[in-house]
Amino acid sequence: MFRQSKRRTAGRRNFEQSRGEATYLGLESKVYALRLSFYDIQPLEEITLEEFETWAIDRLKVLIEIESCTARSKSLKETIDAVKPLLLKFLPLSPASSTNAQAVYNERRKDHYSHFILRLVFCRSEDLRRKFVKNEAILFKVRYNLLQPKEQQEFIRNNHDKLPWHYISAEEKADMFEELYAATSGTIRTLLMAQELTTITNEQLQNHIRTKEEFIKIPFEKVLALVLTRSIYVHDGFGYIPTSSQLNLLAEEFLTQLHTVLVKTFQSLPRLEEDDRIVPLLNNLSQNFTSLDYGATYGEQTSAEINAVSVTLPAVMQHYPMCARHLQKNMILNSHLRYNGRSQLTVFLKGIGLSLDEALKFWEHLFTTGPNAMTPDTFNKQYAYNIRHSYGKEGGRINERPWDCGKILSKPRPNKNEYHGCPYRDLLMDALTQNLSEMGVKDPHDVNAVLDQVQKSQYTIACTTVFELTHKKQLANSKSAEGLHITHPNLYCDRSKQLERAEAKTDVKV
Ligand code: SF4
Repeated sequence: MFRQSKRRTAGRRNFEQSRGEATYLGLESKVYALRLSFYDIQPLEEITLEEFETWAIDRLKVLIEIESCTARSKSLKETIDAVKPLLLKFLPLSPASSTNAQAVYNERRKDHYSHFILRLVFCRSEDLRRKFVKNEAILFKVRYNLLQPKEQQEFIRNNHDKLPWHYISAEEKADMFEELYAATSGTIRTLLMAQELTTITNEQLQNHIRTKEEFIKIPFEKVLALVLTRSIYVHDGFGYIPTSSQLNLLAEEFLTQLHTVLVKTFQSLPRLEEDDRIVPLLNNLSQNFTSLDYGATYGEQTSAEINAVSVTLPAVMQHYPMCARHLQKNMILNSHLRYNGRSQLTVFLKGIGLSLDEALKFWEHLFTTGPNAMTPDTFNKQYAYNIRHSYGKEGGRINERPWDCGKILSKPRPNKNEYHGCPYRDLLMDALTQNLSEMGVKDPHDVNAVLDQVQKSQYTIACTTVFELTHKKQLANSKSAEGLHITHPNLYCDRSKQLERAEAKTDVKV
């Protein structure tokens, strides 16, 4: 996929040549024959650095959403609903029957390469490997569920050599039907009820198992977890598993294989360390796992509705995440905010569309009003410079981007009389509960769910849960739950406004 030595001068020639070699090998016909893969053939073509980075980031966005769904105890069905829009946007995999064969090839190639790039990113520690394997295995399940039944069977057939099982014949099934029914009907009933969302009578269940269910025979030591839960029939050293449960087996196989190869990838990493183009990219990607930079475009546009007055109005503030509310509330109470808090709030407000002129008015008004007010002259001498600086009008003239959650969490924790940072991490439980209540999260069950996530240091997940709880109705009516995981205060604000606009449109239609 990339060279172990630097051959920059011959780069273009090798790039073209390598594309030709891969085509010659007919690699793509094997790897890209199906929409699902165990990723057991390494990519051989060369790709550009730009493709390397953007493909990895696109896959990362999908995996972050999966991680978030798991942390919020979403079922597989709910995870599929949340991840599907992201897959369509960032990693689409059209069926082979699609009319545009080149587009199908490009999609499958991107999927293949992005998986291998992230192997490099996440092979470096046991913690990263565990996280990657877990999320990729869920992605595998999501994709398997999105396949047509015909494609699922084809996948099993194509990977027959890797899967240590075979289907029993109709005669064998008839001979042991009573035992199979007794051991597996409970599991099958649960699965069917989850799919059909209705109750199933014993007669319907018997009929289903007799006519539709096939059974896999597999050495029982391969399925010890299922043996322990008594959800399969065991006989003569073999376990018998209904095909409706085969996805768990496939995912288990996927997980085991991936974990093994990740360790091998890690062992071969030192050779890669010589490449000074790739290593910084890999470091950056692994750091961004919990906080992708969604802030690239924030702060580039001002908004007519956002001005020095409106940013403090409830109609605008209702879209703020807790960190921005907390900062602004304490700014108003104290007529002052220390350096880190000012910097965090300035770029957040810039990100929602507050222009420099309006920002100067906003800060001056708050600094010069209230119990600890200063004079306008003091404000202009001591504070206006920093605000202009954040807008790229002073010093190095760098137009500072709004901080994402990762950057906010990387700052020193706030001391007494400081309010920057992430309240989910920095507030004591009582103060956090009070803030949750002010945002409308009052139900003890909901509050405990958020506090539980905070206890596990899952701050962005707690914030995402609060977003879901406070936008429950709009989310239920929304067609898309795309990229719900909150990793940026401005993302929170944007999503909240989008849902409000979508709701307003629906109301007009009604
Ligand atoms: Fe703000 Fe991010 Fe913390 Fe939410 S998780 S409160 S957006 S810093």
